[in-house]
Amino acid sequence: MKPIRHYQLVLALGCATALCAFPEGGATAAEVEGVRVWRSPERTRIVFDLDGTVVHHLIRLDEIGQLLIDLEDSSLAPAFPEAPGPNFGDGPVTGLRVVEAPRGNLRFAVELAAPVAPSGFVLPPIAQYGDRLVIDLYDIVVEPPAAAEDMAPTPAPEAIAPAPLPGETPPAPPRDVIVAISAGHGGEDPGAVVGRDYEKDINLAVSRYLFERLADSEGFQPLMIREGDYAVALRRRPDIAREHRADLFVSIHADAYRASTASGMTIYALSGDRADRENAARVARKENTVDLIAGVDADLRLGDFDDDLALALVSVHMGWSMEQSRIAGEHILRAAGEVTKLRRDRVQQASLAVLISPDIPSILVETGYMTNPAELAKLTTPGFQRRLADALAVGILSYFDERAPEGTLVAWRKANPGQNADQYLGPANEVDRLAAELMESAPR
Ligand SMILES: [Zn+2]
Repeated sequence: MKPIRHYQLVLALGCATALCAFPEGGATAAEVEGVRVWRSPERTRIVFDLDGTVVHHLIRLDEIGQLLIDLEDSSLAPAFPEAPGPNFGDGPVTGLRVVEAPRGNLRFAVELAAPVAPSGFVLPPIAQYGDRLVIDLYDIVVEPPAAAEDMAPTPAPEAIAPAPLPGETPPAPPRDVIVAISAGHGGEDPGAVVGRDYEKDINLAVSRYLFERLADSEGFQPLMIREGDYAVALRRRPDIAREHRADLFVSIHADAYRASTASGMTIYALSGDRADRENAARVARKENTVDLIAGVDADLRLGDFDDDLALALVSVHMGWSMEQSRIAGEHILRAAGEVTKLRRDRVQQASLAVLISPDIPSILVETGYMTNPAELAKLTTPGFQRRLADALAVGILSYFDERAPEGTLVAWRKANPGQNADQYLGPANEVDRLAAELMESAPR
């Protein structure tokens, strides 16, 4: 996790200004009871806790580095905390304060060190939360100007590797197997809550131990989908895995059930019905150029193909991904059965949004039941969290020992003691060949 510079800024909310007065005569639609801020690597989320629903407006003042958030017919609750203010992390937001607003409205000014792309929505009450107004401020990633590249010094000729001789292929260095670890929930989404224990914390702790264990394993590079206590949208999670070319996506959760007797680990993979629906939806969305699947040498843009071929392509990938998800899940269940009870000893099927990647085997691990007192006691204990994570890691290593993706150090190590590493064809290679055949046989 990268170090974060903390700006512990105080919310300037003195009641010296007239805007703190309640609007005369007019009914106040909502009172703002508090503000919470969550910083994730790609956005800053500001959550206003309200006692009712509001109409809001966002006013961008990019020239002066401000964003105004207007809440119609609203006011600060008497109990609104004045200090300490929220922690904005290392993002572009540097401050948040109440400023003067048109009559009846409550106006917050967000101070910005860099422009952001704002988006706001309201949420109805759920669990311990009441009405909320959520403002997401997405970082705007500025590409370095092309000119900068031109100005870069040209490497000296002797720095260039000698060209391979005719007929000689330069060996590509074997790469690491990349495992994306998605700690469920986070930030304002606690997941299951039992007493003072939040599922999001258990998920993150187990995920961190799993990360440590895989980072220690030669040929493996783990990736945390969330590294701290913040929310990452369900649909965004597999996209992050894809951006990093993950070979496996593992989502970590803890279960809750009304009966306290329920116990044990369950592993889920995507159901066939949901897979069919997602495949069709991907093809229907083909005008959306970000809908890619990783394939033959490069990403495939589904919009480049006619519908029948696009559907066939996605289905080939999805079929492979689902089969691999099941196999990976079985390996993990075998290892986990040594340290905890299994609720089901086979991989279960479920319709879950985080598992829809057609090109990355994806599983969801429910580590145990928080509603079972004995299991909750274990799930919140670092020693057990570590043993559980170790077992998950053993299962993952065992899966990749059997099905090492082509081009990885793991595949090379496996193939080398025998005969020739070049002869090894991993499952990813097989599906690429199938997809390539499909593309060649079909008209464009
Ligand atoms: Zn969960």
